[in-house]
Amino acid sequence: MCRRGKNALVKQINKAAVIGSGVMGSSIAAHLANVGIPTLLLDIVPKELTEEERTKGLTLDHPIVRNRIVEMNRKKLLKQKPAPLMAKENIELIETGNLADDLDRLKEADWIIEVVVENLNVKKSVFEKVDQYRKEGSIVSSNTSGISIRAMAEGRSTDFKKHFLGTHFFNPPRYLKLLEMIPTKDTSEDVINYMKNFCEDVLGKGVVFAKDTPNFIANRIGTYGLLITLEEMVKGGYSVGEVDSVTGPLIGRPKSATFRTLDVVGIDTFIHVANNVYEQVDGEEKKIFATPKLLKEMVDRGWLGAKSGQGFYLKK
Ligand code: NAD
Repeated sequence: MCRRGKNALVKQINKAAVIGSGVMGSSIAAHLANVGIPTLLLDIVPKELTEEERTKGLTLDHPIVRNRIVEMNRKKLLKQKPAPLMAKENIELIETGNLADDLDRLKEADWIIEVVVENLNVKKSVFEKVDQYRKEGSIVSSNTSGISIRAMAEGRSTDFKKHFLGTHFFNPPRYLKLLEMIPTKDTSEDVINYMKNFCEDVLGKGVVFAKDTPNFIANRIGTYGLLITLEEMVKGGYSVGEVDSVTGPLIGRPKSATFRTLDVVGIDTFIHVANNVYEQVDGEEKKIFATPKLLKEMVDRGWLGAKSGQGFYLKK
């Protein structure tokens, strides 16, 4: 690994850490493993025991319990369709841990990617720990769908800020080429250039630079389109199936039917993402980005989309 001077950039990403092992985090880890990069995948420690754990006499401090969430998400990678892993053996490159016990291991990573829930305070508390435990020169990025990158870096060290940017992958990360890259005024040119080349040449992405505006480019347009579609569907008395028929495979867009896509994204995540804009606009625009009652009710029922088995569609 080649390093240059103080605050130097790690010139080679040999190892990565992904924080948050849900829909996106586990799949980003899988994509890194697909290109041969060993990756440490971390999540939170569960607060309660499952019935099975209780029966087995396990306690909350048992390592099996502490890594349960991340282990479960890692295993899901072998069952998911379309497959996030190019070869089943690639899963061996993904090690698991939890953010409470394995903070010290963040030093091993040349690139740390934050992929936790879409909430500024949660992300900021993760970055506070990352700043404390990362090695100088390592790159840090957020996979946020649209929270301000600058706001996430507030209060962080100079070295952190120089190496920090948004790297917004699209779902599913192995298959969608688009990656929005969102540097801040503090991100060093070295980091920006290195990450653009790395994401294009090694990860096979098509990088589009975006300004640090609410929801960047794709989700500003995407959430707007989806909320208007939902409103028109209800007003016009159309069904989910009818809307998906005219926005999906029948018009030559095999993967983009509106509500099937929303199920893949996750209804809860979509609400957070639309809310990013809602909180930062006024007047008429605020009405557009307000969470529709239907989506709130779905989340109250636990209908979160493909990840919970039920969304607009029942998962078979
Ligand atoms: P998810 O709800 O599936 O997963 C979030 C994971 O983060 C969970 O496993 C949760 O336990 C973990 N987590 C929560 N707080 C944590 C903490 N403090 N430390 C460590 N782990 C923690 O969410 P997701 O869909 O994977 O989204 C994650 C991020 O990626 C969000 O910022 C989201 O906006 C963004 N994103 C999502 C999609 C999508 O299609 N779902 C696409 C692009 C970007």
